[in-house]
Amino acid sequence: MDPILERYHALEKKVLTYTPNLNTQRLFDAFTYADTAHHGQLRKSGEPYIIHPIAVAEIVADLELDMDSVVAALLHDCIEDTASTHEEIARKFNPTVAELVEGVTKLTKMQFVTKEEEQMENLRKMLMAMSRDIRVILIKVCDRLHNMRTMEYQSPRKQREKSLETMEIYAPIAHRLGMQKIKWELEDLSLRYLDPVGYKEIVDELTERSSTHEEFLAGIQHKIEQRLNQEGIHCTIYGRVKHIYSIYRKMFAQNKTLDEIFDLYAFRVIVSDIPECYNVLGCIHDMFKPVLGRFKDYIGTPKPNMYQSLHTTVIGRAGIPFEVQIRTWEMHQTAEYGIAAHWKYKQGLANRNLGTEQEFEWVRKLLEGQQDTDAEEFVSTLKVDLFADEVFVFTPNGDVKSLPQGATPIDFAYNIHSAVGNTMVGARVNGRMVPYDYKLSNGDIVEVLTSKSAKGPSRDWLALCKSNEARNKIRQWFKRERREENIATGRAAFESELKHAKMTLAAVTAEEVLPHLLHKLRCGTLDELYASIGYGGTTAAKSVARIRDELQRLGRLQAEKAAAAARTTAESLIMPGNAAPAGVHGPVKPRQSDSGIIVEGLGNCLVKFAKCCTPVPGDPVIGFITRGYGVSVHRTDCPNAAPEKRRPEEADRWVKVSWVDSKLPNYKTSLELSAKDRDNLTLDVAMALSTAKVKVTALSARSMPDGHATISIVAEVKDKTELEAVINKLNNIQGVYHVARAAGK
Ligand code: MN
Repeated sequence: MDPILERYHALEKKVLTYTPNLNTQRLFDAFTYADTAHHGQLRKSGEPYIIHPIAVAEIVADLELDMDSVVAALLHDCIEDTASTHEEIARKFNPTVAELVEGVTKLTKMQFVTKEEEQMENLRKMLMAMSRDIRVILIKVCDRLHNMRTMEYQSPRKQREKSLETMEIYAPIAHRLGMQKIKWELEDLSLRYLDPVGYKEIVDELTERSSTHEEFLAGIQHKIEQRLNQEGIHCTIYGRVKHIYSIYRKMFAQNKTLDEIFDLYAFRVIVSDIPECYNVLGCIHDMFKPVLGRFKDYIGTPKPNMYQSLHTTVIGRAGIPFEVQIRTWEMHQTAEYGIAAHWKYKQGLANRNLGTEQEFEWVRKLLEGQQDTDAEEFVSTLKVDLFADEVFVFTPNGDVKSLPQGATPIDFAYNIHSAVGNTMVGARVNGRMVPYDYKLSNGDIVEVLTSKSAKGPSRDWLALCKSNEARNKIRQWFKRERREENIATGRAAFESELKHAKMTLAAVTAEEVLPHLLHKLRCGTLDELYASIGYGGTTAAKSVARIRDELQRLGRLQAEKAAAAARTTAESLIMPGNAAPAGVHGPVKPRQSDSGIIVEGLGNCLVKFAKCCTPVPGDPVIGFITRGYGVSVHRTDCPNAAPEKRRPEEADRWVKVSWVDSKLPNYKTSLELSAKDRDNLTLDVAMALSTAKVKVTALSARSMPDGHATISIVAEVKDKTELEAVINKLNNIQGVYHVARAAGK
């Protein structure tokens, strides 16, 4: 038979073992499709290319993955290497297969350059993030395993590159997915190319001693089997020398020879249930001397990657230590194939504690959610959004940057350095110019174009960036670089917000409130507030709201104060100078009147002369106790003091007052003169006042349209006698009708 067809039939047989109702035609179609697509291509080994996809499908079948995975494995290099397209595969097979193939293709295209550990962790995460369906990773790992198995035909450079990538990316991923068997093989194959000398040293030494090893392993195995049979425990035991890379690590990290390695040998005892595991442990510890501190119960406390077993190290014949791992068949499957094993064993997971370590939390959750669902649903939940809130992109020299989902080139630029962001003039993604709002996706290679003459970030960027880091750095720039501009923009925003809130700038900047408001807003000056609004440290809306609240609070305080003042007694109101705050009554010192007025019953108190009637000594007067301004003195003939105008509720505020010897030299009073308008009238009035030696503080003349004129005079006089003399003089001026004392306004 054709060797290729033979190979295919071996695969079909393997799939049939775990898929009894297999649609063999579908599998054969996939094989034929891939065979045709890769027709004429050869591998480096000289074999037809189709051998590789078949081999990968076999490894996938070893993991007992579903049909879609096996089909996708057969087709996994079609999109990358041949004329096939996603659409064609979706049509010929199904959309799931097409998705899987496309996912694997994407990962294949990734170029990993070795980086420090933090970078590697990002790369691993990116790989996971890019394969939305976990089967993509599983197929990719199988692909890598087969490529590593056939690496001998590649160039030394390629061997090293691929081995490094395998050691740093794929083996840790296999470990994380709990696929121990594949992990070991990947590590051993990589080591072979990464340190051929060290690898050979171990292999040679192991080969040299292989007969001794085999003898030792067989002896111990026989002993254990015998004992367990006596106890009535049915089990499967096999012993092995540990895998090469784990020996290598111990030899080189701990600088030991092969002889010194503590547990070179490992035995596995596989039984049917958990109680038997502990029984076996008892027997082993009874037969051999356990090494203190080496017993680990991963059944009670599984490893984060779901691994379960009992581990113990004991000392055997001739003092040689060896490790024994005890587990059930189900645990064994999990240990060998990890997450892939759960296709078969998911039912048994119901009551397991699957560990809590964060890096494997998602698998734990995934499996915990799986207790009562069927296989199909299990597949659908394997399409998990790993790292859904992160996006991983490359710098042009291969560094991986982790950014929040939805990040733009602006985030990327500021993630590299604020200087890069501040001088950015453009961005390229995968070699193409993109706008600043371009949303980055996993695996994008991002390049920032900068220029020394760049004007710096734009305010719009604040809305385009996704990371706080970028936002803060942009704000910092505005704060520092654009103070003048910030003040202007901030002021404009602030004033427009004030208008919106129906407030005036004057009300806010009034001397008596501004320092208080600025203090509340934690700003030293008004410019500082504007600047802060300008660069986005705060918003105009927030500041104005704060100010409005504060002004309202101040207003309320003042109103309360006034109300309290009104409630206090008249006496306290009219204390000299009214200096004591409302409600606080200090000792009152008797004072000589300096106004020339005595208020009856109150003695000395604050007095002012009413502006409406401007009384002078000699005028009959009356006093009114005002609210907070002392006693206001009116002439008794003032219309404002007329008894019929006094309000009943204020009756007790009207008090008798009288003139005494005054210390004041003069009293201000107002006169109104009406006359027939003529030239020089005002001059004559001024002359008359001057000759009467009266001090005039204001004089204004108005001409009426009917030919009359009115002149208002404010003059200072000693008393009523002097005032009457002045009035007489004015009456004698030619054309004057009448001179009256002003009253009642
Ligand atoms: Mn491949």
